This record gives sequence, structure tokens and C-alpha cells, in this order.
Amino acid sequence: MAGTKPPLVSLVDCSRYQEDTINESLNHLLEPWGGPAGLVRPGWKVLLKPNLLTAAPPEEAVTTHPLLIGCLAALLIRQGARVYIGDSSGSGSPDRVNRVTGMQQVIEKTGAESLPFDKVNQVQFAGFYMRCLPLAAALNRMDLVINIGNLKTHALTGLTGAVKNTYGCVVGKHKQLLHLEYPLPKDFSELLLDIYLAVRPGLSILDAVVAMEGPGPRSGRPRRIGVLMASRSGVALDTVAAAITGFSIEQVTTLAAARRRGLPGTDLSNINIVGISWRDVAVADFDRGPAAAGSVGGLPVRILLSRLRNRIVLSRRYPVVISHLCSGCGECVEHCPPQVIEIRNHKASIKRKGCIRCYCCQEFCPRGAIKILPG
Ligand code: SF4
Ligand code: SF4
Repeated sequence: MAGTKPPLVSLVDCSRYQEDTINESLNHLLEPWGGPAGLVRPGWKVLLKPNLLTAAPPEEAVTTHPLLIGCLAALLIRQGARVYIGDSSGSGSPDRVNRVTGMQQVIEKTGAESLPFDKVNQVQFAGFYMRCLPLAAALNRMDLVINIGNLKTHALTGLTGAVKNTYGCVVGKHKQLLHLEYPLPKDFSELLLDIYLAVRPGLSILDAVVAMEGPGPRSGRPRRIGVLMASRSGVALDTVAAAITGFSIEQVTTLAAARRRGLPGTDLSNINIVGISWRDVAVADFDRGPAAAGSVGGLPVRILLSRLRNRIVLSRRYPVVISHLCSGCGECVEHCPPQVIEIRNHKASIKRKGCIRCYCCQEFCPRGAIKILPG
């Protein structure tokens, strides 16, 4: 866009999850905004919105690392801010999720408060079109939202980074209902972008000290990249994350949606990256998982073809249960929006008729027993 200032992305080294290392990296990361003092005012209510997908321990790289959340919370509390930690987890009670992911320790150590996303505020939002978004009412009470996701592959959207992380601001079961309402990748990605724009985080941070590659966002493998990144533009942040991990803009469906809308931040050459060069930390052999292998999209994504792709539903693969890995726990049954999964003889069984290929089952299976296999 002529005359528009390019979005700024701060990219810094962070070799490991160790308190001194994280604090030093965070101070460098936040320099472009005047450090912690430039971000908040005394008395402000600040929400840290991590990725707390499920009750998984930090070393699995499923959730945002608690040390990063803890160090940032402490920095902001020192500036006089009142800090909250909140997310609507996909599964598990909030207490269990906080305990297993390490957030409970953060709360106890720093004085940050847990913010339940239990009440809904229906937000009218004019984005892709006018719609109502069932967002957490608690967001209304915040002076600033800092969106802190972790960099992971995702079977439906390619990557889950900053934009996708705000889906956790949708309360509880409304997430499943939205999957039912928008079963096709293009429409769902437009929805994700609308949610991000409606939540309007003042800053987005991506934890890529250890990312997740392969069949993310739940069953992939931790992969060390050794960086933290931040931006006021989640779109620009995801574009840099895509470059580091070798995704094209079209392979990350939320970025493809942002480009279609002409939003700034999807042109890497027009992003002001400060700190280190993305090329120096790019991971050439990053396993981009089933989405990038073409098993989800299948067709080149240009505007016309992406519409076609959505109409040709058959171009998207069905999930498959790997029987010997399945424990019959029923987690997938609980998360399947159209309820097409049954437990038979202690194993999950998917009825293809009615499956909308949202891949929620793959996302929430704790044993990696659901695969989206190339045909
Ligand atoms: S497929 Fe996964 S989530 Fe579903 S019952 Fe088996 S182990 Fe549990
Ligand atoms: S079986 Fe899996 S992919 Fe199919 S609708 Fe259910 S959760 Fe979605």
C-alpha cells in the first residue's frame, strides 16, 4: 500500500528456556516499543494470551512455554501492570491445564492471575462480512492484550502462529460450533482472521525457541529454532515465521486470507525486520507436516483455484485412526463437531459420511493416533 509504513517485526536469538537467557532476549525483543515500560502504564490490566491447547507438559512444545510467560509477566508487573493469563483450552479443566502446562507455577511465582474465559460476549464484527463472534467477555476489561503463541504446524491451516492463536479467545464449545459453521478451509481462515482483528492484540509474540514440526499442533515433534519474535502485526509476524520454516504464503491459509484482503504484512520484502536476519535462523529441513505435503490443500492456491478447492471437498483428505496407537480414550469423540466418531471395541472409528475434515480429532488426540495421510 503506497505511503503505508511497513510493519515491524522484532526477531532475536533465544537459545534455551533458562530464566536469564529468556529475560535478556525479552529485553532485546521489546526494544522497538521502548521495552516493557513502553508497552504498559501503571495500573493497566494486561492479558497474556498463551496457547494452552490442552494439558501437555512444556517439553512437548504443544503450549507456550511457562518460563516465557513467567518472565514477561514479571517484567510487566514490575512496571505496575496487573497481569492476567487466560485462554480457552480445547480440553481439560482450567486447573489441570494450568498445572500440567506450568502456568500454575507462573501464577504462584509472579502474582499474575488466572483469567477464566467462561462468559461470552457476542461481538458484532464487520470483517469478511458482518458476523457475531462469541469472544471471551473478560477481554473487554483489559487495557492491553498480548498474544503469545508458539510456532507449530497445523493440519488445517499450515501453521499456527499469531493469528490462529487468537482462536482461543472463542469460549469453550463455541469453537466446535464455528468449525461446523465454517467447515471449509478458506471460510474458516477468513473467520480466524476476523477473530484476530476483533481481538486486536496490542502485541503478538511467537515462542520459537522450540517449535513443533510434523503432525502438529498436538502430535508433532519439538524442533529447536532458538528465536523469539514479536510484532504489533500478527500477520507480519506469521509471514516471517512462515519464511523461517519454509512455508509459502498460500500454504498458511490465514496468510492467504490476509493477502486476498490486501492487509499489510504478507509481503516479506515489505516487512521491517529488526534484530537478526530470518535467513540466519531459517530451518531448511523443517517438516511442514501434512498440510504442506499437499494432502489437505492439493491444488495450487490462487484466488480462483482456492474457491474451487473449497467446492471440491474431495480434494481434502479424511483423518485415519491408527488402531494400534489408539487407547480408546474418547477425546476425539468429544471434540468432533458433527459427532461422527464412535468408540468400538475400545478403538475410535470415524464415519466418513458427515466428516467435515476439520481435523479437530487429530488436533486433540493425545496419542498421535489420528493421521491425515497423503493418498
Ligand atoms: S484416536 Fe486418539 S483421541 Fe481418539 S480414542 Fe483413540 S487415542 Fe483417544
Ligand atoms: S472425524 Fe475428525 S476431521 Fe472429521 S469432522 Fe470429526 S473431528 Fe473433524
